[in-house]
Amino acid sequence: PPTAWPSADLLAERASRTPGREALVAADTGAAWTYRELHAAVDGLAGRLDPHLGDGRLGVLSPTRPAVAQLLFAAFRLGVPLVPLNHRNATDDLADQADRADLDALVCTVATRAAADEVAPDGCVVASVDDEDGPAWVDESGRSDERDALCPPDPDCSADAEALLVFTSGTTGRPKGVRLTVENLVASATASAFRLGVDRDDRWLVPLPTCHVGGLAPLVRSTLYGTTTVLGPGGGFDPETTARHLAEQRCTCVSLVPTMLDRLLEFGWTPNDRLRVVLLGGAPASEGLLDRCAERAVPAWPTYGMSEAASQVTTAPPAMAREHPGTVGQPLVNVTLRVLDADGEPCAPGERGELVVDGPQVMRGYLDDEHTDAAVSERGLHTGDVGYRDGDGRLWVTGRLDDLLVSGGENVDPNRVARVLVECPGVRDVAVVGLDDPEWGDRVAALVVGECSPDTFDGYARDHLADHERPRTVAFADALPRTASGTVDRDAVRARLRSDGR
Ligand code: ATP
Ligand code: MG
Repeated sequence: PPTAWPSADLLAERASRTPGREALVAADTGAAWTYRELHAAVDGLAGRLDPHLGDGRLGVLSPTRPAVAQLLFAAFRLGVPLVPLNHRNATDDLADQADRADLDALVCTVATRAAADEVAPDGCVVASVDDEDGPAWVDESGRSDERDALCPPDPDCSADAEALLVFTSGTTGRPKGVRLTVENLVASATASAFRLGVDRDDRWLVPLPTCHVGGLAPLVRSTLYGTTTVLGPGGGFDPETTARHLAEQRCTCVSLVPTMLDRLLEFGWTPNDRLRVVLLGGAPASEGLLDRCAERAVPAWPTYGMSEAASQVTTAPPAMAREHPGTVGQPLVNVTLRVLDADGEPCAPGERGELVVDGPQVMRGYLDDEHTDAAVSERGLHTGDVGYRDGDGRLWVTGRLDDLLVSGGENVDPNRVARVLVECPGVRDVAVVGLDDPEWGDRVAALVVGECSPDTFDGYARDHLADHERPRTVAFADALPRTASGTVDRDAVRARLRSDGR
């Protein structure tokens, strides 16, 4: 019997407590697993994986599917870290990540098979969950039979060993590998419950990719609480499908990045009255988006989070979000959040500084020691994010340290410039970046989404911005390039502006 709760084998403990409760549902096929069934499926999977695993890690290259959930819990059971790779990444980046992560095995799907074969390091076994005659590792039908334990849990496996290696979104450069433990994940899930509450009948929809913490954390939460995760299908977000899943599956909670929520509202979605939490994070939510949430009674909980903290750091309840526009709320119960100035001294309320986060959900370190040394001190993780808190401790996130541009010798905050320009009539979205320029140092440049003529845009910029803040290069696009977690992909924006900008 389990000795300590939580142990590393979270699912075994949950299955022994509430075997008959629904654990996992695949929204597209309707396949469903109780905790007993999921545990049996994972147990068998762990047994089949075990002979292929040594001291390295277990990779998965797949869009959101039940197989990823099963692999996560199998990895916990085996004491082998799972490495979810993003199938939308370029092959070179994937190969680099697979190599740095030291994979013993890589599980893929029919659609990702070619990429998996290409990126798997020497000696790494590649297997597809879709292979009929290959190793049938994963049962995605939801009809797993019960069987004797094929794989006893690893007695040495502890909750403070690395259990999950996730790569950051790569907003600021090459993605960094974040090493999380089961303890980190459970601390996050526990703190989340204090903020959001738990309803016995919660059903949490995940339309997010399961290669990031935002898509994986709901699986840990549900298993800790004994509630249900409903996995949306991976492979591109479709508002109509997500709206249907929310209704059909009677979901009470859903995780979304702001662009997804924007598209859901655009599509005409209105929440049913069971929906109590739209956990909205990964990137800033605009005031316009939050206003539309208020109009349509969407229970949006703006959240600041990151891979390194196993997801949420601060979350604002809907009423707070309405009363204090732009806030992402107060830190979760076990989080220490500091705002530090350039000398490392605490900032006064209202004063901007770097956000430094500490607590039991914060990672053990990055895959590469030099990243860890650069970002972690005895005060916690130096996030590189900039923000301020009000007198009651509510947080506003205003940008990133390395966003700051110097144009013609003057400091320019591109996020402030973007917030001004998005108010220009006809403009729906704007990204502001700096382009290298021999004359200006950083030349201010804007990529614009919306129906707005270049002259109108330029006129608005002249009227509302200081001269050194005004974009000298502008291009128009149908949508901003974004990373999987919803942040603006600045490299892609710069590339677009260099090729199309005028
Ligand atoms: P990389 O670390 O590789 O540059 P990334 O930081 O975008 O990529 P993630 O861990 O997926 O990778 O994203 C976390 C980051 O997203 C945060 O550090 C912050 O910059 C941004 N972010 C998350 N939520 C919010 C929010 N509500 N408002 C503003 N920024 C946010
Ligand atoms: Mg980051």
